[in-house]
Amino acid sequence: MLYIYNTLTKKKEEFIPLNPPYVKMYFCGPTVYDYFHIGNARSFIMIDIIRRYLEFQGYKVTFAMNLTDVDDKIIKKANSENIDPAIIAEKYTVAFMNDIRKLKIKPADLYPKATAHIAEIIQMIKTLEDKKFAYNIDGNVFYDVKKFNGYGRLSGKNIDDLESGARVEINEEKRNPLDFSLWKKAKEGEPYWESPWGKGRPGWHIECSAMSNKHFGETFDIHAGGSDLIFPHHENEIAQSEAASGKHFVNYWIHFGFLNINNEKMSKSLGNFFTAREILKKFSAESIRMLFVQSHYAGPLNFSDELLTSALKGLEKLTNLKDLIRENLKQKESGSIIEVDFTKYKKRFEDTMNDDFNTPQAVAVIFDFVKEMNKIISENPEAGPEFYKNVRKFLIDTAQNVLGIIDFSETDILDGKLEEELIELLIKLRQEAKRDKNYALADKIRIGLNELGIELKDSKEKTTFKKVK
Ligand code: AMP
Ligand code: ZN
Repeated sequence: MLYIYNTLTKKKEEFIPLNPPYVKMYFCGPTVYDYFHIGNARSFIMIDIIRRYLEFQGYKVTFAMNLTDVDDKIIKKANSENIDPAIIAEKYTVAFMNDIRKLKIKPADLYPKATAHIAEIIQMIKTLEDKKFAYNIDGNVFYDVKKFNGYGRLSGKNIDDLESGARVEINEEKRNPLDFSLWKKAKEGEPYWESPWGKGRPGWHIECSAMSNKHFGETFDIHAGGSDLIFPHHENEIAQSEAASGKHFVNYWIHFGFLNINNEKMSKSLGNFFTAREILKKFSAESIRMLFVQSHYAGPLNFSDELLTSALKGLEKLTNLKDLIRENLKQKESGSIIEVDFTKYKKRFEDTMNDDFNTPQAVAVIFDFVKEMNKIISENPEAGPEFYKNVRKFLIDTAQNVLGIIDFSETDILDGKLEEELIELLIKLRQEAKRDKNYALADKIRIGLNELGIELKDSKEKTTFKKVK
């Protein structure tokens, strides 16, 4: 049974999807005005691991990661560079897609963009206006926080405390300082859309309510984001969505702790950040992921050289075993059968992940496994290929497919015996062609395999192969 800490109830709760085996999961993705930093990457990687683990458990996950592509920050950047905000958004959307691929984050099923959902956003604001949760002042539409019972439930904040704590804003138009923008009246030089309230653009919070409603309906399973989004973004999403539909919005709220630097949140505005792309120039996706899985997703994590060094050390143990497996599988055609209780390790791995995705414990299980396998290998040099294949399978199922901290597909054949046997057959035919001096055919086989990502390496004794893509 999987338990998830739910920010809404402040408890670990058993995960029961609305419509099993289907799971609908929405993550608040980036505002595309710059390259993302490794603080963002922490949240992107941890939600990827949660998604992969749900899939490992047999759930059919639909994962949406939205892109905020119209926003003050985008407009500001576009103005400073004197180009269209849409070009800024497009440029950083492409960069985002590239960088998450390099981090080996599985592509989302949907990347809803705010600018592609203006009609839905307007419709939801109209509903809120009809239901008297929204008011229009001269083309600016605000959400009336006081009208929504239960405002503050997610963040645990009390509306009166919030009010007295809130600084009186310059915008005196609002009924209450906590009221937030649903529709912003267009200012000179800003992108705008026509609406019942005149030319303008959506506020940030309504985008996620409208997009999740369009793709997932009024109530869905999981909503996630960094913990900076609990208040006000997610609090406001609940207020908007529940007021519009009259239904419960989201069953499980998951929030990721900050990646800090010198115990301060890594953020673009503070300037204390490293972009994911600059870190990726020096470190592999696996090492970055290892860095993050060694801490629980919900807590803060301080980025330091020591942390990176310990991640690299851990990774080395894994890659050493991977190399051993590869070498042995290349060399051995037979050998002795070794009995290993793989189910024991699988169960331990699942037990830790079922406890609110406890990745540090899950990695500890994998390291215990690595240690025992190394011991078996050193004590049983005669161990046959079946043993190595089973070890590889366990690591692929857990360390690769769920955590993404190792990748066998770069150098190994994964698709089973038949694929390997077919390649061996082609290698034999190539050798015969060479013996018959039919070099054209021999080359055709080598080049053809190469195009399929199989590289042949000839030595005096024999020809070996490796998978290169
Ligand atoms: P942004 O582009 O700032 O809107 O952020 C994109 C996602 O990254 C959101 O889910 C944020 O909550 C998350 N995020 C931003 N900064 C950090 C950080 N330092 N550590 C972890 N997650 C973060
Ligand atoms: Zn959002």
